[in-house]
Amino acid sequence: MKIVINGIHANLRFSAAHMIPEHESCGCIHGHSYIVDVKVEGKRSGKHGFVADFKDVKDIVRRICNEFDHKLLIPLRNPLINFTSTSRAVKFEIAGKKYTIPEEDCCLLDLESSSAEELSRYFASTLFKELSSRYDISSVEVCVNEGIGQGAVYTISR
Ligand SMILES: [Zn+2]
Repeated sequence: MKIVINGIHANLRFSAAHMIPEHESCGCIHGHSYIVDVKVEGKRSGKHGFVADFKDVKDIVRRICNEFDHKLLIPLRNPLINFTSTSRAVKFEIAGKKYTIPEEDCCLLDLESSSAEELSRYFASTLFKELSSRYDISSVEVCVNEGIGQGAVYTISR
């Protein structure tokens, strides 16, 4: 069985800035109001016969949304970004453009990109790992929407 959580109606959202290095238009710092949709599939279990408690799923997603909210999302493993500092002020260079951003304005991610694709993979992996310890789940699907109308879906399954 599958449970579905719609990010708009369940208020699973965050607003953040990012950039896609060396992309023609997305290479400049810009922002999105992101919305996160989630599907969890598995066997019903426990006293209540839940696939997973909606509250538990939303708590995990909201925790990640709160980490990202009102930050500049910076992917530490992007080969196109040359970091010279990641503490106090985050300093880096992309194709000759020099950036210095206060650390408290940044969310440093152990990812190759802050694209919707990589963010959905991050949400799905974290959810799958954390829910697996409590529930008998077989797959997690996450869609990270950049505003309304476009999003990237990542599915992780056992
Ligand atoms: Zn963007």
